[in-house]
Amino acid sequence: MKIAIVGAGIIGVTTAYELAADGHEVTVFERRGAAAEETSFANAGVVAPGYVTPWAAPGMPGKVLRSLLSRHSAVRLGLPLSGEEIAWMWKWWRACKLETYLANRTRLQRLAFYSRERLHQVTAGLQLEYDRSEGYMVLLRAERDSRLVQPGLQVLREAGVKFREIGADEVRKLEPALNPDTEFLGAVHLPEDEAGNCRQFALLLKNEAQRLGAKFEFNTTVDRMDRSAPATLFIAGETGPRRFDAVVMCAGLASAALLRPLGLKIPMAPVYGYSISAPIREPLNAPRGALMDERYKVAITRLGNRVRVAGSAEIGGAPARKRPDSIQTLYKVLHDWFPGAAQISNMGASVQEWKGARPMLPDGPPVIGPGGLPGLWLNLGHGSSGWALSCGSARALADLLAGRAPDVDLEGLGVARLAA
Ligand SMILES: Cc1cc2nc3c(=O)[nH]c(=O)nc-3n(C[C@H](O)[C@H](O)[C@H](O)COP(=O)(O)OP(=O)(O)OC[C@H]3O[C@@H](n4cnc5c(N)ncnc54)[C@H](O)[C@@H]3O)c2cc1C
Repeated sequence: MKIAIVGAGIIGVTTAYELAADGHEVTVFERRGAAAEETSFANAGVVAPGYVTPWAAPGMPGKVLRSLLSRHSAVRLGLPLSGEEIAWMWKWWRACKLETYLANRTRLQRLAFYSRERLHQVTAGLQLEYDRSEGYMVLLRAERDSRLVQPGLQVLREAGVKFREIGADEVRKLEPALNPDTEFLGAVHLPEDEAGNCRQFALLLKNEAQRLGAKFEFNTTVDRMDRSAPATLFIAGETGPRRFDAVVMCAGLASAALLRPLGLKIPMAPVYGYSISAPIREPLNAPRGALMDERYKVAITRLGNRVRVAGSAEIGGAPARKRPDSIQTLYKVLHDWFPGAAQISNMGASVQEWKGARPMLPDGPPVIGPGGLPGLWLNLGHGSSGWALSCGSARALADLLAGRAPDVDLEGLGVARLAA
């Protein structure tokens, strides 16, 4: 089939690879000059399927309200919220019901475990070499943090995830560079989880897709689509439309606006987050693997010769406006745990400060499958876990498109869920 993909973020690139591997004639349209320049650019890189859970969860609205009052809050609202953002929050609040949460958690985790398997197959099969580290630790500052993670640990047990609760001494053995002056209780250690550089992986896999014949048209914006011919794209600056047998929408946050004229209402909102990445000053003082500070919901990951610190969930605001307080929280958490790890002394010279927008649906899981119109397919809305979900989502989409049953159950991930 002649297939167009809109967007070359991690979702578009993995989709292009799987479709090209199936023998399709693939063209990817990307408005930026390279792959993974938007949300897939500098995320935390964590692949921890047991922790891929919906942010719409029982008790979350209360937690969000309480955390808004704290200085280093994990959640922030950029007031005033737009009408769309208020409507999104209303849907999010409704999805916090226990029953809805449990159903969505099952869907997300099923896909996340499958996706990690596919990530490993693709990485090993193609011998891709990108910055990655093994193991994941959720750091617990005090008894209070330990109490709060207990329901999550029950989820891990039910999902059969291998983990151990360990004390501070053992944590220090695994991460010898941890600040000796920071007192803490311990951690949850997940030896089978990992972190990897999502952007590097996307760039390498793009090359592999190209080797299989996929074409990438960069600096090329899909201007609009037309309900009467959903597999046709109108490209900015071109006079005639481009016709395909199928179009797969992988445009992340921009998908909602492109699909609106086709009659599809996708309730997607940007949930902004930040990361700082800095070269490692002295490897002995740097983390070995990936860690999450449970209190501040900030991840610290070792990516080759760099350390990345990422976190914050901001609803409202603008993509280009970075909140200094959110970025300060990242520096604080890095300093608390690994004070000598990174070259940040001349504040900013070698540090990359980044703001990204998670393409988030209010209830959590992405939408993967047919778009309900001839030739239209969707792979979008991967929210806070697009990297962890990408390889599985792409393989499953390619199987559906070929008329095969995917190796993972996609119940509830179709577009019909959004209409309910
Ligand atoms: C701070 C932060 C930390 C995160 N940490 C993690 C993590 O640890 N683990 C994890 O799994 N996930 C994480 N995520 C989430 C993850 O980054 C996203 O889910 C993922 O990058 C989404 O990928 P995407 O391909 O859907 O979107 P994008 O990467 O945004 O790609 C969409 C692409 O479509 C292109 N596009 C849009 N409109 C058009 C158009 N009209 N024409 C042509 N091209 C178009 C865009 O330019 C863009 O390149 C994090 C996100 C943030 C912000």
